Amino acid sequence: MKDTAPVEARCDHCKQPRPLFLFEPEHGHLGAGMFTCRWCSRDKQELLCVRCWGAEKEREENDPSINEDAETMRKICATNARIEERREAKAAADRAVCEGIAAATGEAGTTTK
Ligand SMILES: [Zn+2]
Ligand SMILES: [Zn+2]
Repeated sequence: MKDTAPVEARCDHCKQPRPLFLFEPEHGHLGAGMFTCRWCSRDKQELLCVRCWGAEKEREENDPSINEDAETMRKICATNARIEERREAKAAADRAVCEGIAAATGEAGTTTK
């Protein structure tokens, strides 16, 4: 059982000797340039005791910039979907116009001949 027990050392936050767990952020960002938050800009994730780990997780979940990223991402996806929809509608309209012109010129061709 000794091998599976968490390392006991000084917590990076409260500096108390406690069993520690590595904090791993679960959030994502929009791009490489955005990896500047307090978690992603760390070289090494912190080793935290259970209490600090929980507090840190809560902070990550409530971080406005991360939530903003998620919201921006949602908007981008919605906009992309709209653009794609419009593009398809336009392509269909263009096709219809081409077919209309083809039909009209075809008819014109037959009537003038
Ligand atoms: Zn702690
Ligand atoms: Zn981050």
